[in-house]
Amino acid sequence: MESSTRSEERGAPGGAGEGAAPRRRKRVVLLGATGSIGENTVRVLRAHGSELELVGVAAHSRTRALLEIAREFGVRHLAVFEERAAAELRAAGAGVLPAGAILHAPGVEGLESLALLPEADVVLVAVVGTAGLRPALAALGAGKDLALASKEILVLAGAHVLAAARRSGARILPVDSEHNAVFQCLQGQERREVRRVILTASGGAFRDWPEERLAEARVADALKHPNWAMGPKITVDSATLANKGLELIEAAVLFDLRPAQCAAIIHPQSIVHCLVEFCDGAMLAQLCPPSMTFPIQHALLYPARGGRGAEAGLSLDRVLGLEFRPADEGRFPMLRLAREAMERGGAAPAIYNAANEVAVAAFLAERLPFLGIARVTEATLAAMGAAPAAGLAEVLAADGEARARAERLVAGGGA
Ligand code: NDP
Ligand code: MG
Repeated sequence: MESSTRSEERGAPGGAGEGAAPRRRKRVVLLGATGSIGENTVRVLRAHGSELELVGVAAHSRTRALLEIAREFGVRHLAVFEERAAAELRAAGAGVLPAGAILHAPGVEGLESLALLPEADVVLVAVVGTAGLRPALAALGAGKDLALASKEILVLAGAHVLAAARRSGARILPVDSEHNAVFQCLQGQERREVRRVILTASGGAFRDWPEERLAEARVADALKHPNWAMGPKITVDSATLANKGLELIEAAVLFDLRPAQCAAIIHPQSIVHCLVEFCDGAMLAQLCPPSMTFPIQHALLYPARGGRGAEAGLSLDRVLGLEFRPADEGRFPMLRLAREAMERGGAAPAIYNAANEVAVAAFLAERLPFLGIARVTEATLAAMGAAPAAGLAEVLAADGEARARAERLVAGGGA
């Protein structure tokens, strides 16, 4: 990953010396503004108003929440993915939009045109699933930094996203907390001296449930995450550890690691976000409270750190217990399936992601039991065999086929 600095981003916020031009704020486009990452980004933007300016926002269909953000920050460019919601907003007329604001086209075109706004410096992609892929590629192609929360994009098309960044010299700044932590630990280090990257996992809602009870786990149980407040899909992925599985794949892509160099460990406190082990056996760790405002602030302000953020850091005034346990692949089959998919390579990670997405949606709709998520994913991977190393078109085809197969498995009773 590119890690060079840009002179205009340095220095104290707004701190131009006498005669120097005032430093302009970094301009941010936020795709997925109304979600959990979006909400945390808004907190970061409020805390860093002198360094960051919000210039574009997009959501899927929750127009009211999107308009609130747009009005608060005086955002000029908006996009709503869903056609009906976009049409309603258009019908409501200019009165509901902030003065002078433009509503871009619905669908992926609108997301792309926000990503390509000439004034944008950094595009934060935080939409669930893979709808952010084309906008992410567009942003990188135009030389804009990509602050990336949507892990599915790297799982599906990691090589293409990295190639787009290499071609334009734009940076990929990881927002996912563990990857942002690894990114921080790797600053100033030699990549060839990295032995292993270990991502921590809270263990999710069922960490302390006896294994035999998992068969009866309900949606409401899975959504009770012990440490993090996140969107429903990723909260279920935390309960199955598919989230960590996707993150292992994401880490291999982002940091150019072999599957055997990526590991996961259970850390119930979610304070240590990663451990990076070097060839001499030393490890570096990154610690901060379990809140996404920390990695979001880091990614948006990088390479500066900015002052105090939206929240206070860790307090060491009281005892801070940090506990680590091995992640049991028997109890968490989605972790094993992710490792197998990584080793298989080609379209296998995309198949894993697609089948999991379908299965989680079915679980959330109470059409599939909790344990069915791993069963559907495993059966989809098995049915599609070893897809060869593939170009983007083949990966997208495998994604589509995996979704159709997983749907059929769900309809047939969950494999
Ligand atoms: P949420 O479900 O809370 O929010 C999703 C956001 O994306 C909403 O703003 C939603 O709009 C928008 N959205 C969904 N589909 C589209 C689309 N097709 N076009 C435009 N906008 C769309 O998800 P999270 O914020 O939890 O997660 C977002 C991404 O970040 C995921 O990829 C997740 O894996 C990743 N991530 C999340 C973390 C977290 O702490 N939440 C941590 C690390 C990574 P609307 O409200 O209108 O539906
Ligand atoms: Mg994470």
